[in-house]
Amino acid sequence: MSIKSEALRYLGHKDQNIPDDQMQLMDSVIEETLMVAEPKTVHRIFDIERRDGRIVIPADIDLNTDDLKRLLIRSQAVMLIGGTLGLSIDRKLRYYSKTDATRMIIMDAVASALIEEVCDTLQSNLPFEHYTFRFSPGYGDVPLTMQKDLLRVLDAGRRIGLSLTSSLLMVPQKSITGVVGIGDKELNRNRSCDGCRLIEQCEYRKKGTVCYKTN
Ligand code: SF4
Repeated sequence: MSIKSEALRYLGHKDQNIPDDQMQLMDSVIEETLMVAEPKTVHRIFDIERRDGRIVIPADIDLNTDDLKRLLIRSQAVMLIGGTLGLSIDRKLRYYSKTDATRMIIMDAVASALIEEVCDTLQSNLPFEHYTFRFSPGYGDVPLTMQKDLLRVLDAGRRIGLSLTSSLLMVPQKSITGVVGIGDKELNRNRSCDGCRLIEQCEYRKKGTVCYKTN
């Protein structure tokens, strides 16, 4: 799926026709976002051992929440991943928040689609056929605090400049971390909103969409 269609979905567009001038604006924001963004990713892959029903990997991180155990139930390995578009996009979004709110909103959606795309591309270039969906801290029963462990295990601060504020916001803002199962047969790729702690105040759902790819 293209960055444009994903960004439009984040903005709440369904299949309605988009006027030419809006489409031109979208194209121009995509072009600018691609020019400004400095995408970087970091990942590590660990074989999974199972001991007494617990997932054990050779890294200092505990993946034994109910949802992660369900995610990884048929996986032989797990990938921890972090990705960011860098600080330049944050600066651009701040600039447009003061000068052009429409452009800022569109760029925010485009950047969200782009960072997902960057991580998807990384995964598709690795020599594995079957992945689960990317499970990010804050979703289901995985606490946001797990981001600290992911960033530490990935050495993400040093390797891609990705860190956390004391209130667990990622810096740069357009960044993601996640846990992905890897296996030798078809794995759970179906994400849903069930169990998401943001469900009551979710801005995506208010617009009639979701934050993840649906096909
Ligand atoms: S769309 Fe909203 S409620 Fe659903 S998983 Fe994403 S953040 Fe959570």
